[in-house]
Amino acid sequence: SIQAVASPFRSYLIDLHEKYQSLTDGAVADYIPELALATPEWFGICAITSKGQEFEVGDCDKLFTIQSISKAFVYGLALEDCGREYVNSKVSVEPTGEAFNSIVLDEKTNRPYNPMVNAGAIATTDLIRGNSATERLKRVLEMFRCYTGRELDLNVPVFLSEKATGNRNRAIAYLMLNFGMISDRIEETLDLYFQQCSIMVNARDLGMMAATLANGGVNPVTQERALDERYVQDVISVMLTCGMYDYSGEWIYKVGMPAKSGVGGGITALVPGKLGIGTFSPPLDAKGNSVRGIKVCEDLARDFGLHLFNVA
Ligand code: GLN
Repeated sequence: SIQAVASPFRSYLIDLHEKYQSLTDGAVADYIPELALATPEWFGICAITSKGQEFEVGDCDKLFTIQSISKAFVYGLALEDCGREYVNSKVSVEPTGEAFNSIVLDEKTNRPYNPMVNAGAIATTDLIRGNSATERLKRVLEMFRCYTGRELDLNVPVFLSEKATGNRNRAIAYLMLNFGMISDRIEETLDLYFQQCSIMVNARDLGMMAATLANGGVNPVTQERALDERYVQDVISVMLTCGMYDYSGEWIYKVGMPAKSGVGGGITALVPGKLGIGTFSPPLDAKGNSVRGIKVCEDLARDFGLHLFNVA
């Protein structure tokens, strides 16, 4: 396999992994007991070119829950299901500068600010089509299969725990129902939202998902289309402006890559047309982003000139 082949880029990634393995800042998410079980030392880096060449180092097989990273991809499915105009009427694309779980809607239109905060993500999930809860979940899992090239499973204890403790998300959903922004199948939509957050992925999956977006929506290994070409730009745009919670502005400034993070410790980041990156390291900073994941992307951007606005 490609990993066995000595390459300067792989050597670089090995050094990068070693450099940040010793960084012990941050804390593993513990808002539900299942996430607190994560080991702080777990650390994987995977980079996949938009042509499908794969490089990986560390814990790239270790499964964890995708959490908020799902939001970007489910947004793409909602665009396919309902079209841009309708989706935009229900969810704006404006960064908030607020925490991901803030209970705030746009005052004029009552829309949630963007699909990457919980409010916008729940409104997005509400738009996923299907005749039953089971069918809607099947469609979401099928979409992720196209992105990753393999069947994914739910972490059922995480799902049940999110559901049992998710009253803040429930409150956000009811506020949106009050304004007529989502349908009244509230518990079904919240279940689907908690389920999409509980999908288990590894760093390689996140690299492949990013590489698929970087490749215009087609998985570069399986050649299967995961997202209609006309919506790839929409998904990547909201990742760039809103993907790293209330760190998004600083992230664009320093790293300059569309990306999405999750409290499970994952980050998926891409260089459009070129590269997908997946990182996994559970300790998070105060804003909920993986500490080592941010460092890895900062170094990659700097050392290879991958910042989107790099003109050197
Ligand atoms: N399931 C989490 C929530 O809805 C997702 C949080 C995240 O990754 N930021 O609160």
